This record gives sequence, C-alpha cells and structure tokens, in this order.
Amino acid sequence: MNGERPADPRIACDAMCGGVARWLRIFGVDTTYTPGIDDADLVQHALAERRIVISSDHKLFERRAFTTGALRGLLLPVGLRLREQVRYVTRHLDVRPRMPRCAACNGELELVRRAEVADVVPARSLIWAKEFFRCPDCGQVYWEGSHWRRIGPERARLGG
Ligand SMILES: [Zn+2]
Repeated sequence: MNGERPADPRIACDAMCGGVARWLRIFGVDTTYTPGIDDADLVQHALAERRIVISSDHKLFERRAFTTGALRGLLLPVGLRLREQVRYVTRHLDVRPRMPRCAACNGELELVRRAEVADVVPARSLIWAKEFFRCPDCGQVYWEGSHWRRIGPERARLGG
C-alpha cells in the first residue's frame, strides 16, 4: 500500500449483497449495507453519499438516477460464488486493500494493544495473534488468525 488514494470508491450494496459488503469492508472499502432496504431508499442514500451501487438486479439500474448518469452502478453477474463476487467487484472498481473496516458495521478499525482486548480474545489467540483491532462504533474486536485466516492470502492476491 502506498498512502492515500483519494479515488478509492465508496460503495452502497443492495439488500441482496450482504456477503460482498462484509468482505469489501474487510478490504478497507467504505461500504454501506442495510438489510431489507428498498430500491428507492437505496438510490436516495447512494445519491446523498455519492456511492457506487452494487446489485445483481439489472432492473435497479434502469432507474433514472442511473440512466442519467447521476449515479454509478456495478451489475454483479448472477451465479458467481461469494469469493468470485468479491473479486469481480475489486477488479472492476480498482480496489486496493487498505486498513480493514468493521465487517459488521463499516466502522473504521483502530489498532489496539494486546492488553486492551485480553478480556474478550481467547487465550490461545491472545498468544499467537500479532495485531488486534477494535471497532470504535460497535466494539467488535478482530485479530489475524481467526476472522482473518482466509483473508490473508486473498488480500495478498489482490495486491495488499
Ligand atoms: Zn463495528
């Protein structure tokens, strides 16, 4: 990683793309996802926050906001597995992995000291994990080796 990339996309996932949303957050992409949000609300939200909308529903992209170019969208092909969906999005939107965000709520994770999470991290992980992160918004704690076991190679393949 080489410093700030102001062009990094901000994303709004539709109600069907929760799995992709979680992974994009882990890659550090500012990604909103609201279960059950309807299309009209999603469009309003994305317009207000200038987010790129990700959806597998081609009808969504027939809405005026998209056809006029006011809003950008990325159509996720149907039939892809989650891992392929994530790769599709990161490739098409030129995403580079950066500091992870909270998979649960999109909060910006903070690096915390081992001692600060000793009461919530299992003893074994406390010994082996090198870095611990905490979400200031929802309190979720993350560490490499549990939540991120599969994420290491995936991030490396994407150039992180
Ligand atoms: Zn959180």
